[in-house]
Amino acid sequence: DRLTSAVQRDEDRHFDRAIRPRTLADYVGQPKVCQQMNIFITAAKQREEALDHVLIFGPPGLGKTTLAHIVANEMKVNMRQTSGPVLERPGDLAAILTNLEPNDVLFVDEIHRLSPVVEEVLYPAMEDFQLDIMIGEGPAARSIKLDLPPFTLIGATTRAGLLTSPLRDRFGIVQRLEFYAAPDLESIANRSAEILGLPIESDGAGEIASRSRGTPRIVNRLLRRVRDFAEVEGNGLVTGDIARRAMDLLEVDPHGFDAMDRRLLQTIIDKFDGGPVGVESLAAALGEERGTIEDVLEPYLIQQGFMMRTARGRVATRNAYLHFGLTPPVREAIPELPLF
Ligand code: ADP
Repeated sequence: DRLTSAVQRDEDRHFDRAIRPRTLADYVGQPKVCQQMNIFITAAKQREEALDHVLIFGPPGLGKTTLAHIVANEMKVNMRQTSGPVLERPGDLAAILTNLEPNDVLFVDEIHRLSPVVEEVLYPAMEDFQLDIMIGEGPAARSIKLDLPPFTLIGATTRAGLLTSPLRDRFGIVQRLEFYAAPDLESIANRSAEILGLPIESDGAGEIASRSRGTPRIVNRLLRRVRDFAEVEGNGLVTGDIARRAMDLLEVDPHGFDAMDRRLLQTIIDKFDGGPVGVESLAAALGEERGTIEDVLEPYLIQQGFMMRTARGRVATRNAYLHFGLTPPVREAIPELPLF
């Protein structure tokens, strides 16, 4: 349970809702995604049709749920929200699908965690707006077919590679979210501060942005902690100095790394000679789930050039050695795999 984890924590829920941008114009950064979505949404609205199904992928906290809400809002339709692990049986999905209004959005978070039987029901629903399920069991079992209203499925996942290819192929629009650049994170900090009525100097916003691991959710969480610090230790104004002192106290370093990131890099260096090390062995050495390493910890470290994902396993880079004041070893180059 880390302060700099990009995964939603209970404390974020209420706040996320209050500051979530509601229109594409308010969605900071991701210019390619915004431009494309703007065109697709405008065209679908002109044709008075449901928008094509959309797959959004990228690490946690980058704005997948927010984008789904924005699509529904811009399309002026309702959004139903569920997630892969919640839809245990085909009937769970059928209940939601049969309650949709024409052109509504169904948002399925963690869509890679759908069970195979539920996924089977989703295929004809996505393709032909047809529901085809078995009810009852044994000799009394029968199959029923129902027409569904046209709808837009928006699926979110941390890595596109986790999806089965038949599911992936049924999305007309695929968007990949990138880690945000510092100026975008700074605008998000300023925007959230304004909504909170929190006075902030540009240095303060910059300091929070640079320690937020390219992730809007972390900007907002750090902003809340820095606000406490500014109110208790200062006069409520978030200056660069207040932000720096608050985050030093919280042990979030200038790269946005916390104890867990340092432990991950140090384990690769100390226990595995800098790698390559398989993700399973690394997970065992750290006492962490493999999925946590792959989804939460490593994407940002890889993007920042502190570790690499190769066909032979994870490798600590030169930057990682230098970060700990160590001399990098001389090594043969190993080709890197894509980020996510
Ligand atoms: P994900 O679904 O990818 O885990 P969310 O959509 O829940 O992430 O985003 C987390 C929080 O970050 C949201 O509540 C929102 O306030 C903020 N956020 C995400 N993307 C943006 C953005 N592009 N501009 C402004 N704020 C954003």
